[in-house]
Amino acid sequence: MTQDPTPSTQPISLAIIGGGIAGLTLAAGLHLNSISKSDPRNKKFVFTLYEARPYFTEIGAGIGLGPNAQRAMHLLHPDILAAYKSCETRDQLSVEERARFFCFRVGVDDLGAGKGEGKGKAGDLIADVRSGGESSVVHRAKFLGELSRLVPVEMTRCGKRCVDVEVLEGSGVEDREGGVLVKFADGTEARHDAVVGCDGVRSVIRRAVLGEGDEAVEPVFSGKCCYRGIVGMEKARVILGEEMAMESQMYLGKGGHVLTTPMNQGQAVNVVAYHTKEDGKWEDETWIKSVTKQEMVARFAGFSQTVRDLIGVIEKPDLWAMFDHPPAKTYHQQGQLCLLGDSAHASTPHHGAAAGMAVEDALVLSKLLGSVECKEQLRGAFAAYDAARRPRSQRLVTSSRRTGRVYDFEDEVVGDDMLALREYLEHAWDWIWYADMDKHLEEAMLVCDSLKESSQPQVSAPKGLDRDLCFSAGAQEPLRLIGSVG
Ligand SMILES: Cc1cc2nc3c(=O)[nH]c(=O)nc-3n(C[C@H](O)[C@H](O)[C@H](O)COP(=O)(O)OP(=O)(O)OC[C@H]3O[C@@H](n4cnc5c(N)ncnc54)[C@H](O)[C@@H]3O)c2cc1C
Repeated sequence: MTQDPTPSTQPISLAIIGGGIAGLTLAAGLHLNSISKSDPRNKKFVFTLYEARPYFTEIGAGIGLGPNAQRAMHLLHPDILAAYKSCETRDQLSVEERARFFCFRVGVDDLGAGKGEGKGKAGDLIADVRSGGESSVVHRAKFLGELSRLVPVEMTRCGKRCVDVEVLEGSGVEDREGGVLVKFADGTEARHDAVVGCDGVRSVIRRAVLGEGDEAVEPVFSGKCCYRGIVGMEKARVILGEEMAMESQMYLGKGGHVLTTPMNQGQAVNVVAYHTKEDGKWEDETWIKSVTKQEMVARFAGFSQTVRDLIGVIEKPDLWAMFDHPPAKTYHQQGQLCLLGDSAHASTPHHGAAAGMAVEDALVLSKLLGSVECKEQLRGAFAAYDAARRPRSQRLVTSSRRTGRVYDFEDEVVGDDMLALREYLEHAWDWIWYADMDKHLEEAMLVCDSLKESSQPQVSAPKGLDRDLCFSAGAQEPLRLIGSVG
């Protein structure tokens, strides 16, 4: 395959589909960096962010981002981190207190016949897990609002649901043939040089990248569900006690766990109560459904009085089914389509790190795109992004599932052994929080540079780059670079 010798002089036109955390962070990163680094009259990219909803918002309450994600936001642009910080709940706490992730506690009256330290009683501390850096919670809708302020309104289109994309024939160099046709539910279409799918777990772009019939296209039910609610701080204080209500707690029990996190600058507590669905199946088309309070309370009958009291004050409960993605074989196609955030690697929420992965994705992709000089180099940028991001983000999906089982005493190795639980919990986030984002980025750039130089579809590890280093930010197994670059 040869590269076209006359690269286009027109800016590369990018469609970002989906304005959640992934899409907005990418858009903000591209916009802020092009303002600060390049002459606006000589832009390499123009992008349009298409969001299905009428405005940028999201149901759901708190969302936590760890030190890795906060570092990624800073590296992407300090204004992005500042937007996050402006919504932080725990800004009144000391740095040490802000480093606390969760206090994991026994959530049942009797921990049963566990081995090792075995028998804990209700409320006993299993592990006080702290991140080395900051770990905090923001109100999701508020954070999305702040992020959207960083993206010029003329670059966004709300109320535009993408229903399909068509990769067009042609070089697209001189006459702008080729590229991708984006089709919307309202019957309109838009042509762009490339499309980045940030359209979440039920992604249209994922289907296009992987191909109809690929078994990894559809998300799968993880076997876990949760009830979510917000409890006023006064009520939470009465049930949990002053100190416990102001800190994030997780109460573990057989077949379920309940977590509490303070939110809205300490005026309320976000409560999420997980349980395992015995038959492991979810047959409803919708993933969120209203349930009666009695049904919810009955689920936690085996838990301690504190947990039952907490569950008892959630009004109008909704039940959320937790889905995740089977591993995708690639995150990109032909320099024209690319997946980012949940559309690439939707995970269960048990590590509380999936949005953080989306932020990391946005950092890596936007920096790689920043190095692209012409449309012909998009393929190399997307391939480098895939090589850098796929191992780490897919590890999250697997690890998060296991962590959910650990919380619910269902893990074959850990079980309900207090000692083994503590050991697991104290180290389960090491690879997520302590990944070296600067190095990760550097490695992705090296891969990209080598791919830009290469016109071969078969690529080997770039010269001078230790293959294992490529994936040092958390991969379990190095990705084989030998193969199609997409
Ligand atoms: C209960 C729960 C708790 C969680 N807690 C945490 C946590 O504490 N920390 C953490 O890091 N992660 C957490 N997560 C995971 C986190 O919510 C996701 O990883 C994150 O929201 C992914 O962001 P995204 O932008 O990729 O996708 P989404 O947030 O799903 O955003 C996708 C966007 O695309 C839009 N869209 C969808 N389809 C189309 C289309 N066809 N055309 C146009 N627009 C479209 C949607 O309207 C939406 O705005 C949690 C998840 C759940 C379910």
